[in-house]
Amino acid sequence: MNKIQMITPLVEMDGDEMTRILWQMIKDQLITPFVELKTEYYDLGLLHRNETRDQVTVDAANATKRLGVAVKCATITPNKQRMEEYPQLTEMWKSPNGTIRSILDGTVFRAPILIDSIHPVVKNWKEPITIARHAYGDVYKSVDMYTTEPGTCTMTFKGESGEEKTLLVQKVDGPAVWQGAHNKEKSIRSFARACFQYAIDTRQDLWFSTKDTIAKIYDGQFKRVFEEEFEKTYRAKFEELGITYFYTLIDDAVARVIRSKGGFIWACKNYDGDVMSDMVSTAFGSLAMMTSVLVAPDGTTEYEAAHGTVTKHYYKHLKGEATSTNPMATIYAWTGALRKRGQLDGLEDLVSFADKLEKACVETLNDGIMTKDLVGLVDQDFHATAVTSAEFIAAIRGRLEAKL
Ligand code: NAP
Ligand code: MG
Repeated sequence: MNKIQMITPLVEMDGDEMTRILWQMIKDQLITPFVELKTEYYDLGLLHRNETRDQVTVDAANATKRLGVAVKCATITPNKQRMEEYPQLTEMWKSPNGTIRSILDGTVFRAPILIDSIHPVVKNWKEPITIARHAYGDVYKSVDMYTTEPGTCTMTFKGESGEEKTLLVQKVDGPAVWQGAHNKEKSIRSFARACFQYAIDTRQDLWFSTKDTIAKIYDGQFKRVFEEEFEKTYRAKFEELGITYFYTLIDDAVARVIRSKGGFIWACKNYDGDVMSDMVSTAFGSLAMMTSVLVAPDGTTEYEAAHGTVTKHYYKHLKGEATSTNPMATIYAWTGALRKRGQLDGLEDLVSFADKLEKACVETLNDGIMTKDLVGLVDQDFHATAVTSAEFIAAIRGRLEAKL
């Protein structure tokens, strides 16, 4: 069989622990036998990040900017416990995802993979709901304080021109808590552009919600920036594709989302997105079935799984046990990246390969062959067998070969 050819390489970011093991299995079993894979490889494994003083993460992000499409394996974000586990670490390196996100100025979109035998907790959800979370500012970059006596709090902005603006926050008669939050217009605009762009790429309606009736200036600015960008750049394309942009209050959005049948993108401010993405992913089933895409305002895209490195399974693997870790979201990161690369380079057979690999995955699950995490979630009358990751991937390969 002739292998499918590529033109532009993908940026490949390798990672840590169990997902690094799955990464190699996926490449060896499901991709390189069929595709003449071209990648620019960056090893974001923790020890290599340490050896390069995290330069490798910056290089990988810049390569993504240059080449346009990346696929990333889950990586360890070191914390205190990891510093003890890996005594050779010279610094508590920052989250690679955070570094990449800030270099690409991107927005994260999370969408579940649905299968027939697992029903969302919300019965009427038939299509995936994609959450777009603004990943800058608000409470995540806020300052807060506690005061104990009666008094007055004001907020002052000092412009570089020398001009000042002061507002009374509140006068209090006893102990109180305070918070100062901000967002940048540039970041809000990038968020808006990434959302409109992704809606166009995936041909889905875009919903956006804030609390602009209460935070008239703060949330009002989010609403205005979205409207401006939509009118200026995206309305015509939306009309051509028959998709819509819809703004509503966050309360109304929550009610509508629950009653909806899914199939749209829900853009959320940072905190709303943090909370709602956990709610939506749990209601759809499993973290192991959640995909994640980082989209920059210029369309640069990085694909990954939403879950982490599955540490507990890795320690079993190191003891020689065959684990039943679910590779679905990581496989879909690869298919997402290959499809996008194929679309950009006009390679129909690469796009079709990505489609077939996803179909082979879903068929395998529909045939009742699945990893342990899913067996507990399927319908009662559905017969499912738990297999190891290697067996699951082999079953997918069989079905994929039959399609090629
Ligand atoms: P995690 O790796 O997502 O795993 C949490 C638990 O969820 C696992 O112990 C497992 O439950 C279940 N799970 C997650 N993915 C699964 C899969 N593919 N198949 C089967 N079960 C799966 O989160 P964590 O344990 O909090 O974090 C581990 C490391 O990952 C941390 O060092 C963190 O920094 C990193 N992390 C990286 C990313 C990223 O790179 N995008 C994201 C999140 C976390 P059971 O043990 O019950 O089977
Ligand atoms: Mg959360």
